[in-house]
Amino acid sequence: MSSQIIDQFAADLDGEVRTSVRSGSAAGTDKRHKVLFEDFPEADRMRELAGKVKQHTLDHLDKYLEQAEAALKANGAKVHFAWDAKAACDEVEAILRQSNAKTVTKSKSMVSEEVGLNDSLAERGFDVVETDLGEFILQLDGDHPSHVVKPIIHKNRSEIARTFEKHGLGEYNDEPETITRRARQFMRKKYLQAEATITGANFVSAESGRMCVVTNEGNSRFGLAGSRVHIALVGIEKIVPRDIDLSLLLNLLGRSATGQALTVYTEFIAGPKAEGAVSGPEEFHVVFVNNRRTEVLASNCREILRCIRCGACMNVCPVYRQASGHAYRSVYPGPLGAVLSPLLAGAEGFPELADLPKASSLCGACNEVCPVDIPIPDLLLKLRDRGKQEHNAQAAADTPPMGAWAWVAQSPALWRASLKSANMLNLLPYEKIPFGPLGRWTRDRTLPAWRGGKFRSWAKNRKKAAK
Ligand code: SF4
Repeated sequence: MSSQIIDQFAADLDGEVRTSVRSGSAAGTDKRHKVLFEDFPEADRMRELAGKVKQHTLDHLDKYLEQAEAALKANGAKVHFAWDAKAACDEVEAILRQSNAKTVTKSKSMVSEEVGLNDSLAERGFDVVETDLGEFILQLDGDHPSHVVKPIIHKNRSEIARTFEKHGLGEYNDEPETITRRARQFMRKKYLQAEATITGANFVSAESGRMCVVTNEGNSRFGLAGSRVHIALVGIEKIVPRDIDLSLLLNLLGRSATGQALTVYTEFIAGPKAEGAVSGPEEFHVVFVNNRRTEVLASNCREILRCIRCGACMNVCPVYRQASGHAYRSVYPGPLGAVLSPLLAGAEGFPELADLPKASSLCGACNEVCPVDIPIPDLLLKLRDRGKQEHNAQAAADTPPMGAWAWVAQSPALWRASLKSANMLNLLPYEKIPFGPLGRWTRDRTLPAWRGGKFRSWAKNRKKAAK
């Protein structure tokens, strides 16, 4: 029996990183609870409704995708479809080449991480600058996000100050104001140089083709103001049927993500720059990315595509808080990632990530906080079952051998005898005994003292007393 990769990752995690992840995620959970339920006493009914809206869209995605395409084109956008990660990068490259764009500003977009856009564009000779402060720091460090909303949740300010110093952005100074000012000064030049800007999209209304992008730093707005070309990379699941659905989803998104009533910059993009407008891109391209989403849609875990990337499930997850986002070895961490990543990996990639659905205590907290009511624990169980059916080695890692227990539990006489003698277990020096596969477990953990048999004698005595 091999150990679970995520357990090993958590055991090896640096103490400073664990502290940063714990405090960052706990703060998100506390704020969410306060703001969501103070503003909306019936928040749980809103979550249910939002889940229904998203599920309805997914159930009729072909129709809404066509409608969104038509509406976007009517607004003057050029619409492209990318079947997989490579096609998405190729589409972006083709648009950039066609418009002679070399320098590109980019705001935060998880789908661009998913398709490996930055590396791909860098290899093809483009200068791409991340403009979200967290993503910019990760880009300097050659690191990856470990949270969908707070990408640098695993870093503290002294580490960031050292990164800035190393990359020539001033002497060591870990004051947040100084760090922010230096990043702004660097980016200001890039905003002025950039010929194109790349964004994601939080939602696209099929009714109007209006696209909604939220940021807390206004960086996507700056990118749009200075560039000739705007490319939006959008997962096909980001569509909602009507504009009015946005009010429900935006009210839930900000509160669930950061405990804000509304994300500071909530932009609605209806098309390229209107005639006579002072600023804004002349070209607006939307690249809808599939990258196995239709496979997920056809699976028994399709509800995961309702996700609006708020990060609430990772903030509340006890496993995420211990292990951090990089332990999930994929773009999407936490409970969301434990479901979505093995699915997006496809049949050939699933075996590599089949241990992720086991990275959960199944406490249900992720389902309770999810603004679109995704039954994450149920989906984790379905994927665990898939791993078992496929005889996957990763899925079997650290699974206790239950055969002996089942054998004893099926015989009342053996069960009674084992309960009677179980007190003896308290006398064993667990940490010293080479227990085979269980040895690794007992080496790092203590077992609670066995106090078995009490319930059965209590029930027996109760029965006697009742007679
Ligand atoms: S699964 Fe739910 S809680 Fe987790 S990021 Fe997605 S929407 Fe938020």
